Formats: sequence, C-alpha cells, structure tokens
Amino acid sequence: MSAIRFEPSSSLKPKPDESNLEFGKTFTDHMFLLDYTEGKGWHDPRIVPYGPLTLDPAAMVFHYGQAIFEGLKAFRSKDNKILLFRPDKNAQRMNVSNDRLSIPEMDEEAFVEYVKALINVDRDWVPSAEGTSLYIRPFIMAVEPCLGVRASKQYVFAIIMSPVGAYYKEGIHPVKISVESHYVRAVRGGTGFAKTAGNYSSGIKAQEEAKHGGFAQVLWLDGKEHAYIEEVGSMNIFFKIDGEVVTPELNGSILAGVTRDSVIRLLNDWGIPFSERRISIQEIYEASQQGKLEEAFGTGTAAVISPVGELHWLEHTMKINEGRTGEISQKIYDTITGIQNGKLEDSYGWNV
Ligand code: PMP
Repeated sequence: MSAIRFEPSSSLKPKPDESNLEFGKTFTDHMFLLDYTEGKGWHDPRIVPYGPLTLDPAAMVFHYGQAIFEGLKAFRSKDNKILLFRPDKNAQRMNVSNDRLSIPEMDEEAFVEYVKALINVDRDWVPSAEGTSLYIRPFIMAVEPCLGVRASKQYVFAIIMSPVGAYYKEGIHPVKISVESHYVRAVRGGTGFAKTAGNYSSGIKAQEEAKHGGFAQVLWLDGKEHAYIEEVGSMNIFFKIDGEVVTPELNGSILAGVTRDSVIRLLNDWGIPFSERRISIQEIYEASQQGKLEEAFGTGTAAVISPVGELHWLEHTMKINEGRTGEISQKIYDTITGIQNGKLEDSYGWNV
C-alpha cells in the first residue's frame, strides 16, 4: 500500500447542530480518492478537500451504471474513542460487488486503512450526542470515457463521510410495511447480492408508491414467483414465528447485510431457535392468522433494527405484536447499539 497523500482544506466548515442532522446532507471537510488504471492497478491514494469531481460526460458510469458502494458507521464512545463497526465485512462485501460488476478487486486491508485515515483527518466530525454517528460512504465508479458496452479500464474509488442523527429520536418504534406484489428488486442471476447503484434506482418507484399509500417501506418478494420473502426496503428481514426466528437464506438475490450477520451471531449465542430458509408470504399470512407471528424486524446499518408493526399484502392486513416492539427486536437493538457506542463489552471483537 503506497503512502496516502494529504492536501488539507484551507477553509474548514462549521460543524452542524448535532440535535438536528438530516441523513446524508452534510459532509465533512475532506474526502478520500484512489484511481485505477488498467495495467497500473489502484494507485495515488489521497485525502483532499471535499468537493465536486470533474468527470468526462462519456464516463461509463453515467451510461451503463458500473458503480458499487458501501455503507458503515463510526461512533464516538463515552471515553472519546472512535469505534468503527466491522469495517472488514464491508471490505469483503465490496469485493463481492466488484466481482459481480466486473470492477477490479481492491485490497481489503487497504480499504480499512483508507477509512481509518480519512476519519483521522476529520475526527472532529464524529458526533457525540446520544444515537448519533458518522456515516461513511465508500464507492467506486467507472470513469473511462467510452460509450462501448464493456468493463471500464479506469475507475475512481472515493470515500465521503456525513454526520448523522439518531435514527429513532423518540425510541425504537414499529412501522407499517406494504408487501410489493408488482415490482421486483432482484432476480437470481442478477445483481441482488451486490451493492450496486442500479438495484436502488430500480426500487425507487415501488418505494414512492408505498409512501403514497402511507407505508414506511416495501417488503420485496422474489422476482420469479412473487411468493418468497427477500428484503424490506434496504434492510434484511427477520420474523419470529411460534418461538423460532427465521430469515430468508442468501439465495443470490438478497444482499448479505453486516447487521444480518451480527444478529444471527447473537441469536445463536443466546440459544434462540433460529433458521435461514425460504419463507413464503403465504406462510407469514397463515402464521399471522393462527396468532403465531410474534415479531418481524428489518436489520441494517441505518436503523440497526426496524420493527414491523403491520404488514399489508393484497387485501390482507397483518398486525404484529399489536404494533409494539417485540422483546427480541428490542434486545438485539440494545445489544448492537451498546457494542457500537462502547457502552457494552465488545465480546465479539466487532469494533475497530
Ligand atoms: N439489503 C439492502 C438492499 C441494503 O441496501 C442494505 C444496506 N446496506 C441491507 C440489506 C443491510 O445491510 P447492512 O446491515 O450491511 O447495512
């Protein structure tokens, strides 16, 4: 790994009010950049003032969407340490995405070092108020100016960072979800397991329609039969049915969430019956009818846990745990956020 060049910003920005941070709108003083050129590999790591990038209008990312990204958070602990939650998992997943999008692989240790180096420069931007964090967005785009449909020979890897507020200002609370029976997010053989821009742009329409209908998000079903549960919005989904916690198995169209992995680890350690398998929406409906659908929750970096209070599928409404946060949902939330902000012992070695 070559040394990181540092070009400090000459005018530091005022820090935002920590009690009023909107997700992903304010950015820190610096950004990290790294170039890829065919034959030369990844080169010229640098931290430079945050600002616009100049790209050729023919840059391939604009036309064919060869782009991937990651998302992770840094937390300020009470003893003023900065803790990153499982950045190695994001590095691994980024290479899974790179492979699917024919983007050259990156050194996973270097990825973590670059994240750390940028945080170090902008460490004053890691907020300290309860529930706040610094959201870190690494991403890669194809920048070769060429309209041919093929893999680009030039890329830029960048990291930008944004202080974010508490996801739940008034405590964790359940949301209403609409089961999406028309649009699909991903199909097997497609790109569902990769964190690529196109997966998100194609999901926006369903999300907008759900919002209009008064729902927080959509529950995605599989792309072939529209029968099996995949994910909820941009989170993985878990259900507790008759004492057992279940989540859809990773089947090629589901993103392998870092939070999902952490939740599974906790459930197994706590001795809670758990399985990863195919789950149909019909099964969820029947469990609900029989009074066996005890909890449902989404998992992801943004909220950690997002309990589902109500599911709407075709003409059916399924109320879950009377719209209250379930016991397991709450326990997982408290444990993961406790480890993240250093209040609980990190017995898994998740913090860096
Ligand atoms: N599924 C999708 C489609 C996502 O975008 C995300 C957010 N990265 C997740 C699941 C949850 O992943 P993680 O726990 O790593 O944030």
